[in-house]
Amino acid sequence: MRSVITGVAGVGKTTVLDIVSRQTGINMVNYGTLMFELAKKRGLVDNRDQMRKLSRDIQIDLQKNAAMEIGKMDNVIVDTHMSIKTPFGYLPGLPEWVLREINASIFIIVEADPELILSRRRNDPTRARDEDSIESIREHQEINRAFAAAYSVFSGATVKIVTNEEGKPDKAAQDIIKVITVD
Ligand code: ATP
Ligand code: MG
Repeated sequence: MRSVITGVAGVGKTTVLDIVSRQTGINMVNYGTLMFELAKKRGLVDNRDQMRKLSRDIQIDLQKNAAMEIGKMDNVIVDTHMSIKTPFGYLPGLPEWVLREINASIFIIVEADPELILSRRRNDPTRARDEDSIESIREHQEINRAFAAAYSVFSGATVKIVTNEEGKPDKAAQDIIKVITVD
């Protein structure tokens, strides 16, 4: 089975997925890391947080190449985004050609209170995330639900919303394990 896990930057996807992966043995693949490795090889960026500022055509080309690599993997959880906030609007994380390659059974959206997301971004020195307002994080979470509905209609995959409460990533991980280990 292939599962897709998404959520706005800093909500805690990678943190929660690390727990899921440790407890279930299911491999996870980070879509952004795959794209970044491809972009770095081409000398386009030095860090992954520069990728969303690249031109739309280049982002889509990297996205296609990463999808083809994931298409070859079996029984994997894909850590990615419903939509990416770019200077030219929301870019779909799973356009039709990515949905086809990944062929997921479930789309999980990890959500949290926008104020908590902002403080998680600020307290995470490992990344260079954008400085967003509470309102724009709220909008992004709303938009992501709309993208999920569109992907679901296209692919037939289910959509599950999981809340990553402050200090409780284990609880979010359990909620995810419940829905990805049913056949
Ligand atoms: P991105 O999309 O940018 O990769 P992400 O959703 O993968 O972001 P993480 O890197 O997992 O987010 O988490 C961002 C920060 O929030 C980290 O510093 C992490 O330790 C912290 N964090 C994650 N989950 C929780 C939680 N439940 N409570 C408190 N802090 C958390
Ligand atoms: Mg992450």
